[in-house]
Amino acid sequence: MVKAETTLTFYGGVNEIGGNKILVKDRDTKVFFDFGMSFALRKQYYSPPFLSPKSEKSLQELGILPKIGGVYKFDGKASEIDAIFISHGHMDHSAYLSFVKREIPVYCGETTKIILEALGEIRKADLEFNVEGINFQSFRTGKTVKVGGLEVEPVHVDHSVPGAYGFIIYTSNGAVVYTGDFRDHGAKGEMTREFVERARVAEPVAVVSEATTMTSVSVSSERDVEDKLNHIVNQAEGLVLAEFAYTDVDRLNSFCRAATRNNRCLAVSLRQAYLMNALTADERLCIPRLSNEGILIFRKSKERMHSWEKQIMERYPDKIVDAEQVSKRQQGIILTVSLYDLEQLVEIQPKPGSCYVFSSSEPFNEEMEIDFERLVNWLRHYGLPQYHVHVSGHITPLRLKASLKEINAKKIFPVHTENAELFAKFMRDTESQIVLAEKGKEYKL
Ligand SMILES: [Zn+2]
Ligand SMILES: [Zn+2]
Repeated sequence: MVKAETTLTFYGGVNEIGGNKILVKDRDTKVFFDFGMSFALRKQYYSPPFLSPKSEKSLQELGILPKIGGVYKFDGKASEIDAIFISHGHMDHSAYLSFVKREIPVYCGETTKIILEALGEIRKADLEFNVEGINFQSFRTGKTVKVGGLEVEPVHVDHSVPGAYGFIIYTSNGAVVYTGDFRDHGAKGEMTREFVERARVAEPVAVVSEATTMTSVSVSSERDVEDKLNHIVNQAEGLVLAEFAYTDVDRLNSFCRAATRNNRCLAVSLRQAYLMNALTADERLCIPRLSNEGILIFRKSKERMHSWEKQIMERYPDKIVDAEQVSKRQQGIILTVSLYDLEQLVEIQPKPGSCYVFSSSEPFNEEMEIDFERLVNWLRHYGLPQYHVHVSGHITPLRLKASLKEINAKKIFPVHTENAELFAKFMRDTESQIVLAEKGKEYKL
């Protein structure tokens, strides 16, 4: 009997970091793994908020949103996709859910569902991130999900956002493993080790693996980050300003502990507070409570407040501080700021001995692009030295190689990288065949 065909098609994540959209076809079943926004392609044409895409038509015209029939809510055709699985809540893996037909079920971890819904509320009316009406179906590790002829086993992994998963996809032609984004040096490295072990046992025919970090790798861990933060905060004589991805709960915990150890409060942004409040629904997650003594909520001076902002201010009235209060209590606060908040420095007037801690990746964290030139000008203006304390959300090359050797699949498809060829050479002594995928081309297993 002729075996049914199983194919992989990569509509994003090829020669770029992020934008993953991987179609697995097995007999009549069609399932996407991730449906992210491509920062790299979008950056070629847009610079939000001043130059932003006006509609999905623009995004398709410029090739930022791939042309695929039966997927998007605006194409008027019947749905041709059975399900979408989202590995984690970063925009480069999830944002373009915005455009998909609402009848397509979207499977993701429970934590990811909370994060995406909270972000949806914060970014309301954002063309490129709208999850309203999405039919989320959440899972936890240990559950398998059946979609048509496919069986999908999600297994948790360690990454710079909680609720991240890799997948083992059982097809008619053997198991396919998708790593999503992962690392083993964060706060939960053992989760990644469990994933690798499960993947090995499945004896996969193919692994679709991230290979983000191939150049300028630094070896560190979240533990090191916390120690370094503690060291800086301990010496600072004025305000400590901190920039980090607000979905990075590990980093939030590290800053929170560094604050407590040095008798400071951590003043989080309203959007961070909104997300923290939503995440309290996840009992297994280790995250500081807004009611904690050491947490304050920073309210920017601005005219209009969104309803989600008002909700937090009404719920935690004693926690709210404004620029004037921060200015008076500089030695007692670590203030989280994003590049959008630099204008607040005019009111705060950081004292001598204050500093700025940049604690996310370059050149973008997975939520925004960072404009360094302007940042440096602000820091120069206020005499604020900049520290860079960070550990990547992505596995280091030697650890990646060891993991992939252990999984020992017949084929490896590197994605989420600008260095696929370097990766292929680096891996050339392994038994697995490295396939450098082309965008939009169908690969038979
Ligand atoms: Zn990513
Ligand atoms: Zn990620």
